[in-house]
Amino acid sequence: MSAGFAARLLAWYDAHGRTLPWRRSTPDPWGTWVSEVMLQQTRVEVVREAWARFRDAFPEPVDFAVADDDALHRAWQGLGYYRRARLLRDGARQVVERHGGSVPSGIAELGALAGIGEYTRGAIASIAFGHPVAAIDGNVERVFARHRAVRDDVKKTATRRLLRTLVEAEIDRARPGDFNQALMDLGATVCTPRSPRCGACPLAADCAARSQGLQEELPVLPARRAMVDVAARVVVVRDSHGRVLGARIPTGEINQGQMELPGPGVLVDHPGDAQALAFAIFARHGAQLRIGDELTRVRHGITHHRITVCAYAGELSGEAGDLEFLDPGDPGVPWSTPARKVLAKLDG
Ligand code: SF4
Repeated sequence: MSAGFAARLLAWYDAHGRTLPWRRSTPDPWGTWVSEVMLQQTRVEVVREAWARFRDAFPEPVDFAVADDDALHRAWQGLGYYRRARLLRDGARQVVERHGGSVPSGIAELGALAGIGEYTRGAIASIAFGHPVAAIDGNVERVFARHRAVRDDVKKTATRRLLRTLVEAEIDRARPGDFNQALMDLGATVCTPRSPRCGACPLAADCAARSQGLQEELPVLPARRAMVDVAARVVVVRDSHGRVLGARIPTGEINQGQMELPGPGVLVDHPGDAQALAFAIFARHGAQLRIGDELTRVRHGITHHRITVCAYAGELSGEAGDLEFLDPGDPGVPWSTPARKVLAKLDG
């Protein structure tokens, strides 16, 4: 359809593309992989600093493959969604076991690694290895849905397949990685969700949404999941050194492996009285606590949960169960974000 689509896009990218630390002139498959995983749910500005810190700590997959949980949590601090980091470590271990420590260049081998879905596979394959395959994230989806005036829900399988076909029909076979990154940048900086800057867009001349005035209506997205309010409760118990009781979050729960303040669990709506709270803590941690007054409240969001965490004073009245006293200021303790917020509010 659009003669010169890739040429216009790449010329724009060469002049206006974002300068990001993981974009290098020499291919860096591990660095690309790490950046794409970090960028999945985190803003570019946060990822910049975290990516450099992570690469210093784990220069190659083999270095991350042997990282323990605490090292993993330290390296991923500030990024959230720690499940991504654990999947990345699983993938790094598979690279060591199956490919001698080098990220494989084949599309199928890449796609078989833990944590690498269709988008990440396309990004690594095109950026690090030059394969002419699409990498369709929310930005690319938006640009193409508008440019071709795709009026169907972009998350439906059939629409996703259509978008992939459209992108791969236009992809520049000499610079597929740059082509994909150019689309991502255009979506992030020009063809933005609200008020796209069509006047600055290299694709404006043949953009169907622009000519039909549909920019604000497209892309069509599925209805958002309703938010759920949760009133979570935790207890802050200090010893004479100022250390705080915490426990490791069990496997299978959100933020598993991190440290939480004693409570029924941060996704558990727990409006009961002090006695009910003490009982819930005994059931979860095997610890006997006496609950005192409310100290503070913080807000936290996890997926579609809007959580108000109420923190109470408390003291040990018997067994400590699986709780242990930890230094709240020790950067080596992988406190969960809700616990960190509570402690920062009390101690800050
Ligand atoms: S012309 Fe506007 S709507 Fe079309 S791709 Fe460019 S920024 Fe997006």
